[in-house]
Amino acid sequence: MKKLLLAALVLSANVFAADTFDAQTIKVTEQLKEKSLNSELAYDIVARLTTEVGPRMAGTPKDLEAVDWAMKELQRLGFDKVWKEPAKFPAWLRYSESAEIILPSKQPIHITALGNSVSTPKDGTRAPIVIFETLEELEAAPENAAKGKIVFINYRMDRSLDGNSYGPAVQARNRGAVVASQKGAVAFMMRSVSTAKHRFAHTGGNHYKDGIKAIPAVALANPDADQIERLLQLGHKVEVNLNVQAESKGMGTSYNVIGEFTGTEKPNEYVLLGAHLDSWDLGTGALDDGAGVAIITAAAKHISELTKTKRSVRVVLFAAEEQGLWGAKAYVKKHQDELGNIVAAAESDFGADLIYAVESRVASNSLPTVRAIAKHLKDLGVKYDARNNAFGGPDLIPFKDSKVVPIFSLHQDGTDYFDYHHTADDTLDKIDPVKLNQNVAVYAVFAYLAAQSQTKMIGK
Ligand SMILES: [Zn+2]
Repeated sequence: MKKLLLAALVLSANVFAADTFDAQTIKVTEQLKEKSLNSELAYDIVARLTTEVGPRMAGTPKDLEAVDWAMKELQRLGFDKVWKEPAKFPAWLRYSESAEIILPSKQPIHITALGNSVSTPKDGTRAPIVIFETLEELEAAPENAAKGKIVFINYRMDRSLDGNSYGPAVQARNRGAVVASQKGAVAFMMRSVSTAKHRFAHTGGNHYKDGIKAIPAVALANPDADQIERLLQLGHKVEVNLNVQAESKGMGTSYNVIGEFTGTEKPNEYVLLGAHLDSWDLGTGALDDGAGVAIITAAAKHISELTKTKRSVRVVLFAAEEQGLWGAKAYVKKHQDELGNIVAAAESDFGADLIYAVESRVASNSLPTVRAIAKHLKDLGVKYDARNNAFGGPDLIPFKDSKVVPIFSLHQDGTDYFDYHHTADDTLDKIDPVKLNQNVAVYAVFAYLAAQSQTKMIGK
């Protein structure tokens, strides 16, 4: 009987052996936490990127400066391989922007042009405002409902931990100008996709549609949207003059910057850590996404200083994310036939606040490995989110669509993220080095264990 029991124990131990890590791996994991939490590397990277390069919108010379900077940085840090791969994207430049209320009481308002916006005439576009609370309300309005007017969508974004209110709010930014134009509007204005009370407007991609007249598209800072809302509520006819000077420059070229620490046993298989190198032009892109660049770069570097991994750890700094994920799309196209070599992919692109949960998107037979990794993130304050439906980050959308790449979300607290995101106020002082290092530790442990796992994870 005793023998049988022992046999059963051995058997069950074998069943689980594939999904646990040996003592040496666990020792390195603990050292990795210690090292990551006490290092100045990540903060140093984001401080220098946002200071020495600053804003780096794709299409500006600053973006190419950032590419050079990142190549040198990865080389300086001793990555085994450093290279870049081209990505094409529609380039657009902002020259100037301003607006004022003309009627009933002349006063300036704070706006920013949305990406791709066409220009107004030199002296601006002056017209009365017609307000809609949501994009859906505008869509449901009769033809010509906005004829000769400036459409104003007044949708308010809610503050939330996981940023789930961004998706609905951003619809108006993506498509509002097209729908407004279809209703006869001469320009499109929206309340910023932002939770802030400050007077910085939030920019971001706006996309026109072939065959529908492109009209100027801008976002208003929240207090200025409030001002217009109050004037309308008081029964006034509100007339605004918008002035946007910008230019589309055709297709430009930027580069994904890639660094790899090569694995010893299965060098072709790799963990992909992503972030995007480009930023909008208004701030210095500290939270979006200098923090992500720093977090994943430092995580890979820390691993390399402690050990060689079985599989490779690859850092991909994606190009032209803000213009529409152009670097990510180029990467997936170029590496289409080898996407199955990616054993885990995660992107850091949600600021620098604490990570509170880990979620996968993997085939069900990879879940024991996910749980084994998650166990080692617990004491960093990261719980296991069992939904297995991870989004992974914007640049991972094309990877997710392939259905072969195991995708991970290391969920960050986004409560304050949309106070700064895409505004002139996205600057280095918003980053807390202690919280930044918690991110580094989580990414480092995640990447290390995914690179060492006995079972190769697969996507779904
Ligand atoms: Zn971003």
